[in-house]
Amino acid sequence: MKTILTGIRSNSVLTLGNYLGALLPMVRLANKYSGEYQFNVFVPDLHSIISEIDGNFKENTLRTLKYYLAAGLLVNKNVHIYRQSYVPAHAELCWILNCTATMGEMSRMTQYKEKSEGKASCNVGIFDYPVLMAADILLYSAEFIPLGEDQFQHIEITRDIAERFNHKHGEVFVLPAKTAEQIKFMEIEKAIRIRDLISPEKKMSKSTVAENSKIMLDDTPEAVRKKIMSATTDSVGVIHFDMVNQPGISNLLQIEALVSNRPLSEVTAEWDGKTSYGDLKKQVSETVAKMLEEFQARLKEISDEDVILLLEEGEKYANEIANAKLLEVQKAVGLR
Ligand code: ATP
Ligand code: MG
Repeated sequence: MKTILTGIRSNSVLTLGNYLGALLPMVRLANKYSGEYQFNVFVPDLHSIISEIDGNFKENTLRTLKYYLAAGLLVNKNVHIYRQSYVPAHAELCWILNCTATMGEMSRMTQYKEKSEGKASCNVGIFDYPVLMAADILLYSAEFIPLGEDQFQHIEITRDIAERFNHKHGEVFVLPAKTAEQIKFMEIEKAIRIRDLISPEKKMSKSTVAENSKIMLDDTPEAVRKKIMSATTDSVGVIHFDMVNQPGISNLLQIEALVSNRPLSEVTAEWDGKTSYGDLKKQVSETVAKMLEEFQARLKEISDEDVILLLEEGEKYANEIANAKLLEVQKAVGLR
């Protein structure tokens, strides 16, 4: 059985961008292809510590996993939930792959450039995390990795690193599918990029300091309304879906479509040519507030114990698969 894998860093509460770009696509795939694939849902806690941790790390980690359950992930014997740091093979394979990846290709990664921009110094983890991500994927020979648009570059780099390794040491790694195939499999028109509400030319990120720039999954309906009603728009004065010239308005149309689970073309047709930005904002506020209220109610029903039980099973499975692949790699390199 092939594997579909996903992870979201648990450095803080998640945003609506994480939910729509990564969490929901995974849940949909897991429920649709149940029985046909193995589904690995992990918290990349080693990735999380490249950033400041906002809140209690252990609570963040459990909460991130609960989010999947609250979003409707149906757990069965093919769904494996684990923490990255409980599977030491990830860190060890990362080291081995560090000796295949090059400084040049890692320096070109957009996420690294954005996260280090303007900083006097930045930790090596921020530079190196795509290699750890390659290890996360290659250990399980994962074919599909539901992710937001910002992370697709890292799938491509994973393919490059794996190909180079295979060329030198023999066919050890199975390459993940190419970006276009990933998008087709996720049944989306293009990779999802929810925009920052204040600066819609940027993506929404959980580590952005300005609270009004992001919808958090624990926001109250009042907070959602306040943030969306004050979202940056434009001076065009007419609603069109145009991410280049009207990114703020287009972002709201995209959020409306994804949250209400309707095709973007349908939502766009409904609003195109209308002139009241306020009406659109009100509609989007209500759609998001209602979704979050229901989501938060489901979240309350899930206990720490529910998740810990799943982790025990999942970490046993993940260690078995990952250690077997690591041994293959060690032998190929000559370490064993
Ligand atoms: P940080 O600011 O800490 O980097 P982040 O919001 O970028 O936080 P990550 O943990 O880096 O979150 O990414 C987790 C997943 O969420 C990834 O699959 C990423 O592609 C997806 N994601 C993040 N932001 C967005 C967004 N704005 N739109 C769609 N998907 C997103
Ligand atoms: Mg990020």
